[in-house]
Amino acid sequence: MVKDSQHPIIVQLQGVRRSFNLGTNFETEVLHGIDLRVRHGEFCAVVGPSGSGKSTLLNIVGLLDRPTSGTVEVCGEQTTVLDDRALTRLRGHSIGFVFQYHHLITAFTALENVMMPMLGAQEFPTAAMRTSAEALIDSVGLTRWKDNGAGQLSGGQQQRVAVARALAMAPALLLADEPTGNLDTQSADEVFALLRRFNAEHGTTVLFVTHNVALSARCDRTIEVIDGQVTGE
Ligand code: ADP
Ligand code: MG
Repeated sequence: MVKDSQHPIIVQLQGVRRSFNLGTNFETEVLHGIDLRVRHGEFCAVVGPSGSGKSTLLNIVGLLDRPTSGTVEVCGEQTTVLDDRALTRLRGHSIGFVFQYHHLITAFTALENVMMPMLGAQEFPTAAMRTSAEALIDSVGLTRWKDNGAGQLSGGQQQRVAVARALAMAPALLLADEPTGNLDTQSADEVFALLRRFNAEHGTTVLFVTHNVALSARCDRTIEVIDGQVTGE
């Protein structure tokens, strides 16, 4: 469903530019003034050729990186004025990430990986954290594997743990940068179905970068990035 004006805007970028300094006199601009609005509950595919700026864009939306110029509003906060600590706080509470590589701690169990974001400043997990992580593990279909080391799981299972971990703080916004890029068709479908289900059940807004045409066709909206600009929708 395409969201209408009744749904609040959760991401708003205005005139976002990002340059990288590749040594003394070489400044390369990668994003050339992006305007983008995403409403609460939207499930968006982000598509475009390799090197077009999709990851750079997602990192800026996810507050992992700052634009060279332009403004970024996330969950109602104008982030330009926030310092790094405030950005980290906002990110921790509002944004979940899934990448192409799972980035799990392979020496920890599946369940422990899902509890990691809940720990925050605390050193030891509480019973409530465990219960909540178990519910997430159940919801991604890994109940039987929750106490297995993350390193022993298949690629598809690892990515489902990564999805559960990304959702541990019940983020309003989930950013998934080619999360199915390394998976076989069936595992990719399973991971995609999970994201769709969380979107439907919790209203989680999703930006899903993919080269998979079959999957992007199943999103509500397509944001196309070409040469550092959002071109067509
Ligand atoms: P995509 O995710 O669409 O493949 P990226 O956002 O990763 O594209 O990269 C866009 C362009 O920006 C590429 O040319 C890439 O080399 C360049 N780029 C990305 N990050 C950096 C960086 N940290 N330093 C220099 N160049 C970068
Ligand atoms: Mg990329």
